[in-house]
Amino acid sequence: MDILAFGQKGLGSVYHNPETAMATWHAMDTFRQKGGRALMTLAGTDMKCAGAPLKMTFMLADRIRQAGTASASQIDFFAAKTAIFSVKPVADKVLELWQSLEVAPKVHYQRELIGVDMDKQTAIFRQPETGEQFSEDYDFIHIVPPMFATDVIFNNSELANEKGWLNVNAETLQHTKYPNIFGLGDINGTPRGKTAATVKKSTPVVVHNLIRVMNGQTPDMVFDGYTSCPMLVREGEAMLVEFNGKGELTTTLPLVDPLQPSYFAWYLEDVMLKPAYMTVLRGRA
Ligand SMILES: Cc1cc2nc3c(=O)[nH]c(=O)nc-3n(C[C@H](O)[C@H](O)[C@H](O)COP(=O)(O)OP(=O)(O)OC[C@H]3O[C@@H](n4cnc5c(N)ncnc54)[C@H](O)[C@@H]3O)c2cc1C
Repeated sequence: MDILAFGQKGLGSVYHNPETAMATWHAMDTFRQKGGRALMTLAGTDMKCAGAPLKMTFMLADRIRQAGTASASQIDFFAAKTAIFSVKPVADKVLELWQSLEVAPKVHYQRELIGVDMDKQTAIFRQPETGEQFSEDYDFIHIVPPMFATDVIFNNSELANEKGWLNVNAETLQHTKYPNIFGLGDINGTPRGKTAATVKKSTPVVVHNLIRVMNGQTPDMVFDGYTSCPMLVREGEAMLVEFNGKGELTTTLPLVDPLQPSYFAWYLEDVMLKPAYMTVLRGRA
């Protein structure tokens, strides 16, 4: 797909780069002024920030509400898998909140996006098990592309696991075959955790274990698989969702319920997390 097409004819995706995210905002802005049918998609692969497609759906619904075009609008959410999020309490809470929205998104499971006809504004979905195809018209579509590790790892490398991600032990982050290799970040084939929050929390574990291996010792520090996903539910409210590698909800801050929307969580995401992410970028090698 031509990346320059984003922003035109209702085509959006925040997954490529900041420019396509801005272009997506322009397409959403055009859409919300009149309303219509919006298709929101979810890829069938492991994903960076798996909460982002859900946040986009919440925010689109909120923009329509603000613009007063809800009665002229419909939102359909197409998930390639059988769930909208891998942590069940979070998935259930999101579905519950969606039902309370002025435009409640209708969820379609096992519908994988396989093509878009930009001129006709039609998307083609496939049922992954039967191969049956469905064509859906749209006025706005948000695309979440399937995601894979970089070719060096993905293409039959001995470093990869069966899904093509770096084959590391989820606790020590040491490669399962090659003890002198450790994995950090989205490349890791761990059950969850393609987030910057995971990178930040796991870096000290990798550094510690790597130094031990360099000194002829065994890795002894364990990563719990921490992931954080601030879930925006409307302008001014969010849930500070945090969980570990087993999919159990955790909380860093006292008195914060991970499934309770609040202005506080919105404020954290909007004002405080960006400087925190920028701090992560200041690394030393
Ligand atoms: C829309 C969206 C929203 C997100 N929201 C959040 C959030 O709210 N909170 C959060 O914690 N995380 C969030 N994330 C996830 C976060 O951005 C990633 O988890 C994080 O960037 C992972 O860092 P990384 O260095 O492992 O991978 P990346 O940031 O993907 O960096 C990998 C780099 O390697 C480069 N590269 C690839 N192949 C090669 C090669 N062969 N040779 C050289 N270089 C190569 C790539 O170009 C890239 O620059 C979000 C992600 C997206 C897409």
